[in-house]
Amino acid sequence: MEQREPADHFEVVVMYRQDEVICPRCGQITNKEHDRRPQRKKDRMLRNKEVFLILMKRRFRCPSCGKVFTEPDVVCGWRRRSTQRFREYLGEEALHQTVRRVAQKEGVGESGDRRCVAEEVGRRLEVRKRVDTPEFIGVDEFSVRKNYFYHTAICNLREGEIMEVIEGRGQKRLEEYGDKLPSPERVKAIVIDMHEPFRQAIWMVLPQAKIVVDKFHFLKQVQAALDKVRSRLQKGEGNSFPFIRN
Ligand SMILES: [Zn+2]
Repeated sequence: MEQREPADHFEVVVMYRQDEVICPRCGQITNKEHDRRPQRKKDRMLRNKEVFLILMKRRFRCPSCGKVFTEPDVVCGWRRRSTQRFREYLGEEALHQTVRRVAQKEGVGESGDRRCVAEEVGRRLEVRKRVDTPEFIGVDEFSVRKNYFYHTAICNLREGEIMEVIEGRGQKRLEEYGDKLPSPERVKAIVIDMHEPFRQAIWMVLPQAKIVVDKFHFLKQVQAALDKVRSRLQKGEGNSFPFIRN
């Protein structure tokens, strides 16, 4: 591992450890390195200085078909300029602070940070996503920052459980959700607030379901379930980091 410490930021040079990769064209395993190129990825701040990982990304040449290809980057993801763990961290932070504050503190653009929040919430809920179709559904919007950057929570009202959080509060995303339900005809009623795009979406994809507008009574259950999810997300989970620094 090579560490540089210029005046205003840290740089750490890293490389993936595995020396054999699979040719994406023919499936042959190869260790014939062709070249390496540095890629700069933003990581979490350390002692108030920005940290960059300089990933020495290798290209390999397949001995059997001749293809030259870049090794996969499972840590940062395809064409991302920051590390996955940094994006997860931003997402977590922004769940209980304003996005603007997190963005300022970590020196990233706010829109990038907002995307991280959505990704983080989605990623964590993915694991617990329920695939059954409830009879009674609650749909409610909530903002990560007050009155700004909304998500839509979909709740099984009988169980008091959030089933999914979708980005934004538009009609299209809710329609997509309804389309994915395994037995949409089972839905008897959906409780929403006055948000018109929700009503439109339900008419489109769950036409048999009764629409109940009840901001104050039923949606309390959605909020309670949402609070459960929030506190679960805020507790956080350890981030594993498969880089080997050499
Ligand atoms: Zn090949």
